[in-house]
Amino acid sequence: MPSVEELYQEIILEHNKHPRNFGQLHQPTHFAHGNNPLCGDEISVQLKLLNGIISEVNFSGQGCAISRASASMMTEAVAGKSPREAVRIAEKLINAMQQKDQAMNLQADGDLASLEGVRKFPARIKCATLGWHALIAALQGKKSVSTEPTH
Ligand code: ZN
Repeated sequence: MPSVEELYQEIILEHNKHPRNFGQLHQPTHFAHGNNPLCGDEISVQLKLLNGIISEVNFSGQGCAISRASASMMTEAVAGKSPREAVRIAEKLINAMQQKDQAMNLQADGDLASLEGVRKFPARIKCATLGWHALIAALQGKKSVSTEPTH
């Protein structure tokens, strides 16, 4: 079994303790609520699109350390990007999290590389991707997204 230390790397703990861009954004142009019932994570993403660029992006809600840290990293990764570029970054992260056997190759993305250890804990991958799914949903005009299919 991988150790708990590997799961809760220092960078993840730091983002959880001091989340970036945390709290409701005033008058967002796009927003979506993300729900991960397996863990109980509830992460909402709000952003402002200005001149084709994500000028501001925040997240709010409650969740485990991994869901909060990953959402915090997401806001840093996509601020100042076009929606198209932001979706590309989000899809790359989500795909990388789901490829258990391959190196994540996210070194260029700084703090995001700390999420690599989460892949050894399949139950937590949905925690790490929740904020990113919410971001994509917001940019696509959907108001909510769940990691579990609704019946
Ligand atoms: Zn979680």
